[in-house]
Amino acid sequence: MGKLLIVGTVAFDAIETPFGKTDKILGGAATYIGLSAAQFGLKTGIISVVGGDFPQEYLDMLAEKNIDTSGIEIVKNGKTFFWSGKYHNDLNTRDTLVTDLNVLANFNPVVPKNFMDCDFLMLGNLHPAVQMAVIEQIPVRPKLVVLDTMNFWMDNTWDMLMKVIAKIDVITINDEEARQLSGEYSLVKAAQKIHEMGPKYVVIKKGEHGALLFNEDNVFFAPALPLEEVFDPTGAGDTFAGGFIGYLASTHDISFENMKRAVIYGSNFASFCVEKFGTERMVNLSHQEVQNRLQQFKELTQFEIELS
Ligand code: AMP
Repeated sequence: MGKLLIVGTVAFDAIETPFGKTDKILGGAATYIGLSAAQFGLKTGIISVVGGDFPQEYLDMLAEKNIDTSGIEIVKNGKTFFWSGKYHNDLNTRDTLVTDLNVLANFNPVVPKNFMDCDFLMLGNLHPAVQMAVIEQIPVRPKLVVLDTMNFWMDNTWDMLMKVIAKIDVITINDEEARQLSGEYSLVKAAQKIHEMGPKYVVIKKGEHGALLFNEDNVFFAPALPLEEVFDPTGAGDTFAGGFIGYLASTHDISFENMKRAVIYGSNFASFCVEKFGTERMVNLSHQEVQNRLQQFKELTQFEIELS
């Protein structure tokens, strides 16, 4: 069983979808990644920062899921990172309405002593300088480093982002971000360009159209499960990433074949995440529900065909 360290935002989100609106609720990339990876019963820790306004009950909930929260710094006189977004009718695209960095603006991450020997590192969507600071504090390079990022950091911190991308093994981004990062419309060409930047593995998430995994000449595609109800896509990408790295850490196998299974696990968890607002569905997810849906995934994609 691997030891997984996650760095990312722990946040307040206010979300608007065609089905409703929330006030400030629990969000953040590291929150979603942690809740997803926690399904594997790993030794998991989060590095992040929150303000004095962050409810203790949220930290307790994460701790109950066996997530080590000692790396979440609390700045008593500061405010927690706040993000607000509004989804379009297709639910695949959204507008960011507010990004208030607050305590994140001066965040200096500190890797807790008991995670210095982590063998899996997930760099969640965050300022690339923070992602780099975490890489640099870990004395022995982890077995696998996975990075997520977004257009906000490509627009504002391009050079630093390039330096971090050069140091990682797997990048997980959505199709729009892959196009922006590479300057290529074709996702195959985009993946090739991104390989040249450093990562041997490129995962491109396409929302309700599934996810692609590229490793040089190998490609794998996993569909997203067609769902009856999608309420809120927030955190789906992070939940995917948590399932992906959590599965790899729990099996300790980073071969391409195993990464295919990791993509299925990630897609499976993401399919739950979108069924309720915020983190609610992931907080209450049972092992049996996960197993049942994995079976549905298998049935969705299995077919026999005669090749002549
Ligand atoms: P996703 O839907 O997977 O892109 O992730 C949504 C989560 O990312 C939300 O819970 C937000 O709190 C968080 N988030 C939004 N913008 C940023 C940003 N610029 N940096 C870090 N985290 C962010």
